[in-house]
Amino acid sequence: MSDTLKPTESHEGSTNFIHAFIEEDIAPGGQYYGRTVHTRFPPEPNGYLHIGHCKALCIDFGTAKKYGGVCNLRMDDTNPAKEDVAYVDAIKEDVQWLGFDWGDNFFYGSDYFEEQFNLAVGLVEKGLAYVCELTPEEFKANRGSVGIPAVSPYRDRPIAESLDLFHRMRAGEFPEGAMTLRAKIDLASGNFNMRDPAIYRILHAHHHRQGDKWCIYPMYDYAHPLQDALEGITHSLCSLEFEDHRPLYDWVVENTGVQKKPRQIEFARLFINYTVLSKRKLRKLVEEGIVSGWDDPRMPTLAAMRRRGYTPRSIRNFAERIGVSKAASVVEFGFLEHCLREDLNLTAKRAMAVLRPVELEITNYPAGQTETFQVDNNPEDPDAGTRPVSFSRTLWIEAEDFMEEPPKKYNRLFPGNYVRLKGGHIVRCTGCEKDEAGNVIRVFAEYDPALPAGATPEGVKVRGTIHWVDTNTALDATIRLYDNLFSDPDPDAADKDFLSCLNPDSLEILTGCKVEAGLANAEAPANFQFLRTGYFCVDSKDSTPENLVFNRSVALKGSFKPTP
Ligand code: ATP
Ligand code: MG
Repeated sequence: MSDTLKPTESHEGSTNFIHAFIEEDIAPGGQYYGRTVHTRFPPEPNGYLHIGHCKALCIDFGTAKKYGGVCNLRMDDTNPAKEDVAYVDAIKEDVQWLGFDWGDNFFYGSDYFEEQFNLAVGLVEKGLAYVCELTPEEFKANRGSVGIPAVSPYRDRPIAESLDLFHRMRAGEFPEGAMTLRAKIDLASGNFNMRDPAIYRILHAHHHRQGDKWCIYPMYDYAHPLQDALEGITHSLCSLEFEDHRPLYDWVVENTGVQKKPRQIEFARLFINYTVLSKRKLRKLVEEGIVSGWDDPRMPTLAAMRRRGYTPRSIRNFAERIGVSKAASVVEFGFLEHCLREDLNLTAKRAMAVLRPVELEITNYPAGQTETFQVDNNPEDPDAGTRPVSFSRTLWIEAEDFMEEPPKKYNRLFPGNYVRLKGGHIVRCTGCEKDEAGNVIRVFAEYDPALPAGATPEGVKVRGTIHWVDTNTALDATIRLYDNLFSDPDPDAADKDFLSCLNPDSLEILTGCKVEAGLANAEAPANFQFLRTGYFCVDSKDSTPENLVFNRSVALKGSFKPTP
């Protein structure tokens, strides 16, 4: 993991093992010499994109860009069962938001069904595929094992018979599961994917784009290489679980006789601790009502991260910096947060908000008087300017910024102590008022009217600075604080029930929070740093001018320690 890149630097100069392969391929004498580098991102439209997909997206689009090439966005809608148009639109929105452009190169895998069928007929005619009538159970039982070949009694049936059956499969004459079309490769192969894999199955299912035109559907391992080949993809970059499928990928490309031959290169999937990265599991969280939807800000989906306040740049930086390798590793969730914090530190406007308010009364400040102070919008950005903030006799402060009997090193308000009110006066705490139950309901302080705002009284050392909001102009807001959705660092582990790893405290909703008046018209996707409490954004769904809602994107400090 590299921490040497600044979030604003360009990463296009960086290089990895995929680039090395590509450079070999496009050099004189290489297999793609003279051709444009052409990649694709092929999501299955059966759920929302998550942070794992971002890694693939950055690799697919980033690599094409690096070599002046093209990257297709292709909906892999080969499997009719689970697809949904809503997911197609959501995926497009997410890819665009991340900053990637497919231009005119948007495709559907299902658009190749006719061509793929014809190529399959060609395989049968060449004696390279046959119709097998083993039921799914028999198919499994006859798969063989290490050293023991698979068996199919239909393997040597005449070509004409297979051709006839395959056409009748398409015509809808047979029920689901009655037969499959299998590639005739090697029943004894040590790679089970090559043991005459099924390439077509019967599914009497409605397809979201093809309607009821088809009742046979190609298997992924047959469909995918052909989609790549027919689109003229040069480099098909995918995650490591497809490595064992590469011989089959190459077999399909070779034996169907397609003109353009793509090359598959695999990289390690992204894993992040304290999260699950599988659409199946994420869908379950939505369906069970454990989260409010695919875009619940605790989800690792792009839609949720956008709503949580993540910036596209912070995610691209993250993907770039975790690197590309063949070795699987688990990345700390804290590193993702670190990348966000780094970006927002440079770009987010500062504001003051009080999460758990208690009133501070400056007892010698004239009632009815108001001063306006100019406060920096972002000290990290010399062009960010200042904003006016009003100050009066009564202010909201954080309840935790006052203690009647403070422990050692507590530098905030306690009787007798001086504190700087950020951007305003320095005050000395004089006491508090409590209700019958002993809860502090008001804190008292005095200021020195003879001193200009911010000036330190003679001989006093002011150690603490706190944030505040003028009670006369403050706006009410709801603020949502998030923690990890899972309390177990590895909820995705195969031997764990991820639903039993949930963190019961992943969402805390604070109401009656007080924010400065300048936030009245804040709209998503605005990001803010609320002084001392973290980075926040306006909630894109629930916030209205009458009822402001902010999400905490990330706290100011995290557990992740960048290496120097
Ligand atoms: P899931 O298990 O979440 O459903 P998937 O791989 O089935 O993921 P697809 O929609 O098929 O989801 O994925 C599109 C592309 O994204 C594929 O090329 C896949 O390799 C890649 N991808 C998915 N998850 C990850 C991940 N965690 N890390 C890297 N790449 C990923
Ligand atoms: Mg998939």
